[in-house]
This record gives sequence, C-alpha cells and structure tokens, in this order.
Amino acid sequence: MTTTPSGDGTRCVHAGEPAAEPGAPLVPQPVLAAPYHLGDAADFYGRATNPTWRALESAIGSLDGGECVVYATGMAAISALLRVTLRAGDTVVLPSDGYYLARAYVREHMSALDLDLRLVPTAADWDASHVRGARLVLVETPSNPGLDVCDIAAVAELAHAEGALLAVDNTTATPLGQLPLDLGADVVVASDTKALSGHSDVLLGHTTTRDVALLARLRAERTASGAVPGPLETWLAHRGLGTLDLRLTRQAENAAALYRALRDHPRVRGLRWPGAAADPAHPTARTQMRRFGGVLTFELESAAAVAGFLGAARLVAAATSFGGLHSSADRRAQWGDPVPEGLVRFSCGCEDPEDLVADVLRALRA
Ligand SMILES: *Cc1c(COP(=O)(O)O)cnc(C)c1O
Repeated sequence: MTTTPSGDGTRCVHAGEPAAEPGAPLVPQPVLAAPYHLGDAADFYGRATNPTWRALESAIGSLDGGECVVYATGMAAISALLRVTLRAGDTVVLPSDGYYLARAYVREHMSALDLDLRLVPTAADWDASHVRGARLVLVETPSNPGLDVCDIAAVAELAHAEGALLAVDNTTATPLGQLPLDLGADVVVASDTKALSGHSDVLLGHTTTRDVALLARLRAERTASGAVPGPLETWLAHRGLGTLDLRLTRQAENAAALYRALRDHPRVRGLRWPGAAADPAHPTARTQMRRFGGVLTFELESAAAVAGFLGAARLVAAATSFGGLHSSADRRAQWGDPVPEGLVRFSCGCEDPEDLVADVLRALRA
C-alpha cells in the first residue's frame, strides 16, 4: 500500500489494497472459508480471522488513524465496546439525543451489571459534572437525528481527567468528515451500514483505536461472542468505501442546495445542517470537521404531513437509514426518538441537485 500522503479520493480508492503481484486480482476478493488447512498461517477458523476482514480493517484503520475491528453491524460494534469496557456498578455516559438503541441496550440488556446510566444532550455545556466518576463516555457528533455537535477535544480532556475512556460514534461524519482519535478520543465506533458502505445493501460496523490493550480485548471478545461480519458483506463494504469521497461530495452538495431551498420555506421549521454557516452547530463543527455530510433534519406540521410529503416525493424513498446513493427520509418519532412528531431526518443521495430540490419542493406543494 502506498504511504504517500494524499487526498480523500486517492485514499479511499487505494485504502486496504493488496500488494501488486503478477497474476493476483487487482482488488481484494471475498474469502468465504470457515476452516482453513492448519499450519503456521494467520487463518485457521473463520470466526477468529478472515483475510477479507483484514483488508477492510486495514482500509478503515488507515482512514481513522488507528487499528480497526469490523463487526456484523454498528450495534454489534457499540454493544461489544460496552461489554468490554464496563464492569458492575460503573457509570456510563451516553447521549440523550443519540442513536436510541445504545441507550436501550444498556437499559434492557445490561441490567444485570447495575450500571449508572447518565444521559447527556450532545449540545450540553459540557463540564466535569457530566463525566464525574464515569468509566466510559460515549458521544455522537453530529448526533442522530438532531445533528447537534459537541467539542470532541474538550470532552476528551474532561473524560481523561476523570480516568474515563472517550468513545465517539462517528457514523454521521465518517472518517472523511472527522478524525476523533486525532482530536483526543480513545476509540471510534461506527455503523458502516450508512455512508461508509453507501449502497443500502450491507449491514456492518467497526471500532478503531490506538489503545493496544483495548484492541486486543475487542478482538478477543468478537471471536468469543461471534458478532462477526460475513465476508461477502465485508467485501461489499470495501467496494463501497472506494467511492466514499465522490458520494459524500455529491451528498453535501445536495444538502447545501436543499438547505438553501428549504431555509425560508413556509412549511419547514427547525431546519438543521451543520454545514450551514447559520446552523447553531456550525461554529464547533467547523473547528473539528474536515467536511460535512448529506443529512439534514427539519420539521413539518404533523405525522400526517410527513406521510403526505413522503407519499408525494418521487426521488425520496421512505426508509430508515441514511448515507446511501438514494435519497431517503423517515419520521423519527415513529422509532421512539425523543423528538417532535413531524421531525424528518432527510438523507441526500447522489441524484442531481436540481432534480432533488425540484422533487422536494413539488412534494411540499402537493
Ligand atoms: C444506524 C446507527 C447505528 C446502528 O448501526 P447498525 O448498523 O444499524 O447496527 C449506530 N449509531 C448510529 C449513529 C447510527 O446511525
């Protein structure tokens, strides 16, 4: 692999590529094996190691700036981190406005540990009281679905002063948008089901860290728990990653165009996109993010208004994910997010900006 410093497009295209060898495939191929012929090679059984994982881990690790461990889903990565780091009676800080299943997992599936679960809004005025006594602080920035941000370096300093680990859910930003480890975080977690894979056909997640002891525990726990990704999904994610720069560029272009079109729209309230200079998250986002993504949120009048909008739009799928090639949107309150009934999370795809804006404006008139 080349070690020359290079731009985002170059890094995505070449991330995790095998050494050039005559007769070998140009790009990594999926290896589906369960058992291997035994000997003194790395691979012996597919729940413990797999060459297709290693290729993607090398790719994502090179972008995140650490050692990556891939998982079957984003929640598999998050729950593995919680299981590996938390002991009975520990305090864990989670975002009150972040991905809802992280909170639900601690409440409903780790109750035997009697954890002290402290919920802090992403946009809190963070100080020592928020992290006091914590073993693990997990932030999500930009948060999902509210798109608030927090200052990763400042929270890292607070967490470390308490002896806590700081984890950042980097799903929305992707490694091209933000490098939490460079900002002082101890570990990145992410759902690569979203923009990193980008084609709405794969579930995948990862952790990345520079902490070798934590890395070893995460790897060992993955082998023991079996939360491993399928090699075919891993390979599809790697193939998708190659175009992440191109896709994010178009998605952000679409988000900027849609933001301009919706900013003064009479039916739209609470429009948020951290990339906009007028967004409350922008001052902090600008200092720690390298670029912005394609997800916006806004409010329509009611749940019925959102259903009407999604029914009328031709280019916007009613679907609950984000970061894919296809524009999509969903009403978050239906999943139990603590948000207004009419709040829409809108994920800009890679359509042309004029087409997408025209379709959204037409659907809002319908
Ligand atoms: C989707 C998502 C997850 C969960 O990822 P899965 O791949 O669906 O398990 C976690 N965090 C954030 C911010 C997400 O958007």
